[in-house]
Amino acid sequence: MASERPLVEVNGTRYRWPRRPVVVVCIDGGDPAYIQQFLEEGVIPNIAKFMKEGFAVVAEGTVPSFTCPNNMSMITGTPASKHGISGNYYLDVKTGEAIVMTGPELLRGDTILKKFADAGAKVVSITAKDKLRKQLGKGLDLSKGNISFSSEKADKCTMAENGIENVLELVGQPLPDMYSEALSLFVLDAGIKLLEKERRDLMFLSLTDYVQHKYAPTEGEARRFYQELDKRFGRLAELGAVVALTADHGMNDKSNAQGKPNVIWLQDILDAKFGKGDTRVICPITDAFVAHHGALGGFVRVWCTGKATPAQVMDAIRGVPGIESVLDKRQACAVHDLPEDREADVVVISTHDVCIGGAEQDHDLSGLEGHRLRTHGGVSEAKVPFILSAPVNDEYKLKGGAGILKSYRIFEFAINGAAA
Ligand SMILES: [Zn+2]
Repeated sequence: MASERPLVEVNGTRYRWPRRPVVVVCIDGGDPAYIQQFLEEGVIPNIAKFMKEGFAVVAEGTVPSFTCPNNMSMITGTPASKHGISGNYYLDVKTGEAIVMTGPELLRGDTILKKFADAGAKVVSITAKDKLRKQLGKGLDLSKGNISFSSEKADKCTMAENGIENVLELVGQPLPDMYSEALSLFVLDAGIKLLEKERRDLMFLSLTDYVQHKYAPTEGEARRFYQELDKRFGRLAELGAVVALTADHGMNDKSNAQGKPNVIWLQDILDAKFGKGDTRVICPITDAFVAHHGALGGFVRVWCTGKATPAQVMDAIRGVPGIESVLDKRQACAVHDLPEDREADVVVISTHDVCIGGAEQDHDLSGLEGHRLRTHGGVSEAKVPFILSAPVNDEYKLKGGAGILKSYRIFEFAINGAAA
């Protein structure tokens, strides 16, 4: 019997063998406010059913509330202090270069998918943006029917690199645009097609936050997107899967009454106080595709590269309106469970309605024309939905009710609580 197979241990957590397929969906930027709004409107019947018949809480994600750290938390079942991916970027203090943190060599520990695949499970990882693909697929043996690809590069899949080819034919859709809701829907449609074809034990489907950056929960575009998501979640459940829904981070409006972003230009403030080149502000939200948020988020790091000490830098920042917390390296790692060897001298987090940038001249806000700035990164965007389509057993009811649930336990709850 499937349930009698040995436990699979990953990074210190033991997982039972799932009797049913488990599909974990990361709704990128899926702030609980969207689900709240559309539940009230009665337009997401499948999610409503999951919440009523399965399991639902608002959980706490990894801070900084960015995409890479939270995807890695979910796929490894650990906090950032263990998996090491504490931002989308960090500063290499030896070279002075900002390093993008998407390399699989930077990810510490194993992924849940890899360990299950090694134990003989059939696993699938599909991500909207290709930047996450290599870390999500770290160590995964793609020669035994396991699959890892992105919808961004769905037209370029090979058996060697992705464990699948001809994905566009499989899904029956053209390659979706990089900046579109279709990029996310393609992920779900591909997952559905794969599950229709044959049994899969574990799937991780990671979407993109294009819609949530652009549209508030009250806007029609957001409603339409969630209705499309909801239909697909319903289909996955119909195929017999335990569907587990969470988000990498929430999303907040950070514009003023005139529609202009509320920005603290932190590098400019520090340069004025200590002189140019004395400190280095890194915005770890930055990635190659910044049109929809101007590389502005609610969490930045400051490295002291000159005379100013961390204590002096902290003093200079503390009084600035819109700052929620200023922490030194040790405090930041203790409070937010972050890896010390990749942490800056000072961590700065803004309030829910304010964001933090580096030097004003380095940020291109032209992509925001005509839109209010909606972004994330701080503690105020770390609340995320945590919903299972099936009820959890008594053991996990207890675990779920004991304090604030961390979203990196989504696979554990779905597998051990609902599917084992
Ligand atoms: Zn994200």
